Amino acid sequence: MQESLLTPEPYVKVALPVPMRTLFEYKVPKAIALRHKLIPGMRLKVPFGKQTRLGLIVELCYQSEWNPNQIKPFTSLHDEAAILPQTIIDLCKWASRYYHHPIGEVFFHSLPAMLRKGESDSYRSEVWWVLTDTGNHLQLDELKRAPKQHAFMEIVKAHPNGLSPHIMRLHDLQGSVAKALEDKGFIRRDLRHFSKNAEHHGHKKQVPPTLNHEQDIAVTKLSSQLGQFNVALLDGITGSGKTEVYLRLIEHAIEKEQQVLVLVPEIGLTPQTLKRFEDRFNTDIALLHSNMSDRERLDGWLMARSGKARIIIGTRSSIFVPAPQLSLIILDEEHDASYKQQDGFRFHTRDLAIMRAKSINACVILGSATPSYESLHNAKQQKFDWIKLRSRAGSAEIPSMERIDLRGQTLIKGFSEASLERINTHLSRKEQVLVFLNRRGYAPTLMCHDCGWISQCPNCDVNLTVHKKANKLHCHHCGYQSALLHQCGECHSHEVFTIGEGTEQVEAQLVSLFKDIPVLRIDRDSTSRKDSLNAITQKIHEQDKAILVGTQMLAKGHHFPNVTLVVVMDADVGLFSSDFRGMERTAQLITQVAGRAGRASKPGHVLLQTYHPDHPSIESLCSLGYEFFANQGLQERKSLELPPYLHQILIRSESVDDDQAYLLLDQLRKEAEQHIENFNYPIQLLGPYSAIIVRKAGQHRYILTFKSFNRAPLHQLISLLSQSLEQNPLTRKVRYAIDVDPLETY
Ligand code: ADP
Ligand code: ZN
Ligand code: ZN
Repeated sequence: MQESLLTPEPYVKVALPVPMRTLFEYKVPKAIALRHKLIPGMRLKVPFGKQTRLGLIVELCYQSEWNPNQIKPFTSLHDEAAILPQTIIDLCKWASRYYHHPIGEVFFHSLPAMLRKGESDSYRSEVWWVLTDTGNHLQLDELKRAPKQHAFMEIVKAHPNGLSPHIMRLHDLQGSVAKALEDKGFIRRDLRHFSKNAEHHGHKKQVPPTLNHEQDIAVTKLSSQLGQFNVALLDGITGSGKTEVYLRLIEHAIEKEQQVLVLVPEIGLTPQTLKRFEDRFNTDIALLHSNMSDRERLDGWLMARSGKARIIIGTRSSIFVPAPQLSLIILDEEHDASYKQQDGFRFHTRDLAIMRAKSINACVILGSATPSYESLHNAKQQKFDWIKLRSRAGSAEIPSMERIDLRGQTLIKGFSEASLERINTHLSRKEQVLVFLNRRGYAPTLMCHDCGWISQCPNCDVNLTVHKKANKLHCHHCGYQSALLHQCGECHSHEVFTIGEGTEQVEAQLVSLFKDIPVLRIDRDSTSRKDSLNAITQKIHEQDKAILVGTQMLAKGHHFPNVTLVVVMDADVGLFSSDFRGMERTAQLITQVAGRAGRASKPGHVLLQTYHPDHPSIESLCSLGYEFFANQGLQERKSLELPPYLHQILIRSESVDDDQAYLLLDQLRKEAEQHIENFNYPIQLLGPYSAIIVRKAGQHRYILTFKSFNRAPLHQLISLLSQSLEQNPLTRKVRYAIDVDPLETY
């Protein structure tokens, strides 16, 4: 009955990569409706304005709010089957609603770049070379006068399964030689798909260590939950063997032919970590991170989608990768800020992981030595299971922390005498020392002695950082660079000098203080070239005594067994931060860096250089540890009515025109006040206020904050405002962004 009322051809609702909060409707051309079964997740070409664009079918519907005569038919179908499964379509829809982000942009963000551009969803095919019968019987001596062909044949014979492009590259073999041998009938080509080639396993699996008591409890509990929705916070101190717990759970999942998604922070995937996974499992591992080519990423994505890759390791955006057998999602270092995308589509990977797991009955494990206050709060509320690992795995001990009082001391190149003495002691025992300073470059400020001028970025309200080796001034906010000035920009005096120090300077000072000791620097500048981080860590492992200097890059995931002393140059950085998350971040960073000390058999020590040794934060972190510190922090957040006790959404505006950027939010505030009054929303407003760095990359920036103890009205209000923002003519000159559960509020 119902069916006869429906129009014979349905409409498709299509996601397009445009900044509009809507799906677009198209008619299905008759010829296509007859031949194809349309389903959500297929790509298609549609007319859009004067262009034809690639879109994705999100829904089919039989009724439209629009006049049917106004709806255009779409141009052509791009796929024979859906490229995205329904679970990912649902996840994108949820994300678009929760983050108030244009739905088409969310869908296109979720896809690998090549699929966004219209590439087919199939593996790359490669030409492999295989020996023919003739080739097999050939006496190699016959090729004596053609040494290149001789060499090629030798290598083909050594690879009875065929010669892959990869092996050809390794041996520097040329296609022209292959062609010549093909013409002679000695070899033939075989076109193979990338996925087949990945089956190169067969190494002996590494024998895992015996779990300690805490690990054993964790594994038993968590493995019983595979296949049902559950979120667990694995709160284990650095070196407590969290990764070992992950590996055991992955083993359980693989035995049941399930898939596991392992999420790592932006720069958290060290070659050491990957090697631990590869050594343990005889299975395909799909990698998805930003340091890969688009083609490699698509191949990895396809391996995950086919179910072939049992383990998928990736950064933030891989939360959207299809994986039909997914039963476990692990977020390693769950507190890491890189899980939140800070521009464009501002999603938090943790939230999406939980939503996704809920919809497919999977488990989520959030692992960290320094859990975020949000996750600790959820664990305390019993929304998450809370599993603690409080001792170090193997024979390693927990490092001791000590404050070094800098007040009234004469510093020697940024170090107190006591710190230098301790560095010497550890070096003399052939151990390594790690010096931590979260500021790269040579110095953060260049100043004129005669007139007080300071070199500033022309595009931002910040000082330029001095990079001495590169002989440049850099803006770390917009990327601006200029030649290093040796003369004042104002009065042309030659008396210019630097204030403060960065890692480049500390490195230079350590080299002059500790002659003959290798000093290795790890920060974004020293590791900008591909594989340079690898080379440096390799060197660290080869040395006995050495000093490592670095930024937060050093805090993540590395295991340097010979580091026994960590010196934190400036433990006070977070104390007076304008962001309420400042102290949480500093405590996490210090604890993580401290965790690099004494990870093997030798005990570790940590020195915190501070001008505020009696500050309650420094004191509690130092003597009572992160858990106690975080508890105190949560109490404070509660009394000050801050997240996680209260929910926030920000709307940010930016424009080259200062007044207009302010005006947009001012109008929005008035509109919000009206809604709040009409609907009696329990929402507080703050702003518009200017961002701390008011001007960044030439844009003047303002913020309007919405706060509520209750999420629902907050989201209702933002929905209303986002609709009106889309219509607001000011947005032609002012860019805006909605930031739900912001991590940065300035
Ligand atoms: P985390 O991820 O918590 O920092 P890891 O899993 O990296 O800790 O473990 C730290 C070190 O201890 C690693 O070298 C690891 O191989 C080792 N380890 C882990 N579990 C055990 C165990 N049960 N027995 C012996 N060594 C272990
Ligand atoms: Zn001057
Ligand atoms: Zn700048």
